Amino acid sequence: MKEKSASAEERKKMVELQIIKRGIKDKKVLEAMNRVPRHLFVPEEMRDLAYSDEPLPIGEGQTISQPFIVAYMTEALKLSGGEKVLEIGTGSGYQTAILAEIVHEVYTVELLSVLSERAQEILKELGYKNIKFLIGDGSRGWPEYAPYDAILVSAAPATVPRALIEQLKINGRMIIPVGTDFQELVLVTRKKDSWLEERLIGVRFVPLITIH
Ligand code: SAH
Repeated sequence: MKEKSASAEERKKMVELQIIKRGIKDKKVLEAMNRVPRHLFVPEEMRDLAYSDEPLPIGEGQTISQPFIVAYMTEALKLSGGEKVLEIGTGSGYQTAILAEIVHEVYTVELLSVLSERAQEILKELGYKNIKFLIGDGSRGWPEYAPYDAILVSAAPATVPRALIEQLKINGRMIIPVGTDFQELVLVTRKKDSWLEERLIGVRFVPLITIH
């Protein structure tokens, strides 16, 4: 019990100092960040740093994103609650949990089975029933359940993958880091026969691996 309330306290501080102070306003995002126990998604030896203002290693050369970036990307999708969302790069499963708190259904794709399996275990233990997992190459999306209201990608390709744009509903949104040496978060809005791209902030993500 003691540990539980200590982590709730740390989360509250994280949300106030790292998220609200930097301009995130979406109530749904703030509530989700207050609820999800981030410390359960980082390796045990990193637990002390779970609520700090930085990305952390999660094994296999991958990282769990900085809390602010998770909040920023989620807010950019302007979710209202009924959506079906595709996530590429399950990683630790933390961003997956944030999405699952807010929307109706989350479809999440991870290339590395070790990471996907670990995330599945934690997310099931936490009781989420609205998440479907796929192990595979997310640069092709997950066509079986398309189209999606929104797509969140947490690994960076050199250019926006066409397959992902095609799996968005008309007026659907995708937030994705794009670039190699220099990366930016790009917000893509799908239109009927075209799409809009808006460049937001500079970021650093692991590369989206493409399998040929
Ligand atoms: N949102 C995650 C971020 C993990 S880092 C978190 O906060 O924990 C990005 C993840 O994308 C890594 O787990 C990496 O293995 C995965 N990845 C890289 N290329 C991929 C691809 N082509 N398809 C699916 N996942 C991919």
